Amino acid sequence: MCVFCEIIKNKIPSYKVYEDNGFLAFLDINPINPGHVLVVPKKHHDNLHSLPENILAKTGPVLKLLADAVKAGAGAEGVNIGMNNGKAAGQLVNHAHFHVIPRYYGDGHESWRGGKYKDGEAERVLEKIKGEIPLQP
Ligand code: AMP
Ligand code: ZN
Repeated sequence: MCVFCEIIKNKIPSYKVYEDNGFLAFLDINPINPGHVLVVPKKHHDNLHSLPENILAKTGPVLKLLADAVKAGAGAEGVNIGMNNGKAAGQLVNHAHFHVIPRYYGDGHESWRGGKYKDGEAERVLEKIKGEIPLQP
């Protein structure tokens, strides 16, 4: 059984922050900063690509709730919401989860550094991505 399923079933301990029918939120054991919370849908799905609509619809409000609480409770100056999907993106635990990370000026955790597009590259990738979107206004 995956480690987050075990936490959800109370088979291994965690510092629980919030729980409802569909979600459990608990402290990340290796926090970026103290108060770093993981928001985890209770039903096991590997990552975002396999999360069903009914869970996704509830995810936004739960993330907002936890982001507000982490910001106020940890006295943060900013909050990152993150999700790693797939090993190449740094996903270590294959149970879909969102990171809610309190941030402070000068905390040393840099943002991603952006690159530059080569000639024609933006247009090419734009068309490919748009071609994968089934419904467009
Ligand atoms: P990710 O790289 O997005 O898969 O992140 C997985 C996160 O789960 C890491 O930040 C770990 O520190 C955290 N983690 C792994 N095991 C536990 C645990 N037993 N309790 C709390 N957090 C955990
Ligand atoms: Zn699981």
